[in-house]
Amino acid sequence: MGCKVNSYELDLIRQSFAKEGYREVPFEEKADIYVVNTCTVTNIADRKSRQMLHRARKENPAAIVCAIGCFVDNLGSADIDPAIDLAIDNRAKKDCVKHIEAYLRDRTETTGQRVIRGEKDVFSERPPLLTPGRTRADIKIQDGCNQFCSYCIIPYARGRIVSRDEEDTMREIVTLAESGIKEVVLVGIHVSSYGKDRGEEPQEALLRLLTRIQMIRGIERIRLSSIEPRIMTEEFVSGIAKLTKLCPHFHLSLQSGCDKTLKEMNRRYTTAEYRESVERLRRHFREPAITTDIIVGFPGETTEDFATTVSFVKEIGFYQIHVFPYSKREGTVAAKRKDQVPDAEKKARSKELLLLTAEQARAYREKFIGQEEEILLEETTEQDGKTFWVGHTMRYVEGIVREDKSLPQAAGMLIKGRFTGASGGRLLLQSDDPS
Ligand code: SF4
Repeated sequence: MGCKVNSYELDLIRQSFAKEGYREVPFEEKADIYVVNTCTVTNIADRKSRQMLHRARKENPAAIVCAIGCFVDNLGSADIDPAIDLAIDNRAKKDCVKHIEAYLRDRTETTGQRVIRGEKDVFSERPPLLTPGRTRADIKIQDGCNQFCSYCIIPYARGRIVSRDEEDTMREIVTLAESGIKEVVLVGIHVSSYGKDRGEEPQEALLRLLTRIQMIRGIERIRLSSIEPRIMTEEFVSGIAKLTKLCPHFHLSLQSGCDKTLKEMNRRYTTAEYRESVERLRRHFREPAITTDIIVGFPGETTEDFATTVSFVKEIGFYQIHVFPYSKREGTVAAKRKDQVPDAEKKARSKELLLLTAEQARAYREKFIGQEEEILLEETTEQDGKTFWVGHTMRYVEGIVREDKSLPQAAGMLIKGRFTGASGGRLLLQSDDPS
């Protein structure tokens, strides 16, 4: 469940099970052990995590049902859900297999439920090996968050910032490059804090890491996951602009286009600073893809505040916006506010922003029609009875290219060509690239 960091961590756990001789079966099938890597970022995520745990219990009442991750960290001293046998928090989940085997050994009629909490704030993941069929690899470089945005439960679930040892990250990426991975995505809970716990300026630490990854043979693309506008100083942006492998795709988290709301969210930038960061990126990169997250219906957000957000969105012109209706998370500052926005109003605001972002996304994509571009092939798809390869450009524009059995087309390959038209949210790539 949840974010890229969770899926990275689950890959790790999956491989630990395989190493110990366990065989993975589809979640829908009867199994001896079910592991749910949970998410609690919103009420919906929380509910879905519970549903998966209950589904597991129903699938095999005799199985061990294990909940790991943020949902467990957020439990506090509350009773754990009756569907769960074993609850393991974020810091302890790397040893998930060990804890499950201990529980299996001790299990009797009366064993009951067990909660395992790990050491805080230690980055100790071992790098996972390449997951077959992956064309890009998420690389976790950081964990935890010290920001405490007033609506967010993550700092309570993930703990304080902790950065991964740079040599460890480099070793993982070199290994992945040797096994054919061409694109890496640097992920974390708050990547913009990378290096801070080591007393470094995040801009310096991140630029140094990116510059070293740029040198790795076989890696063709480096993508950054969600980052904050404050990291986009002139020095940082002019530094990363020299890295030819860095994807000009920046997921610059905004959350609101209204300064009053940003302040109440405890987001530590203004719309003016955000605009400056975007303008700086547009000065240093050709048509950078600016994507973002926006929360609608934050407590106290008036229709005027929301209108301010809409006009800011129109001014900036985003490629994609992930729209989140505000989700009240017990334990956060915003949850205590009396001026909660009604669900119907949140729904209406989401709809308005989703229509706007669909329009902006189409306009951005179509800028590339007629342009030479390159996509990283990921999978095939059928369209109008024909088979196409689907892939993304460095700006994360989705393109399709006709399957041509006479050409060596395969997942993980980079294919050059010219975009000749649009087709259902994708661009059609004309390619006779023999490589
Ligand atoms: S920066 Fe804010 S929204 Fe992001 S994880 Fe930290 S507290 Fe949550």
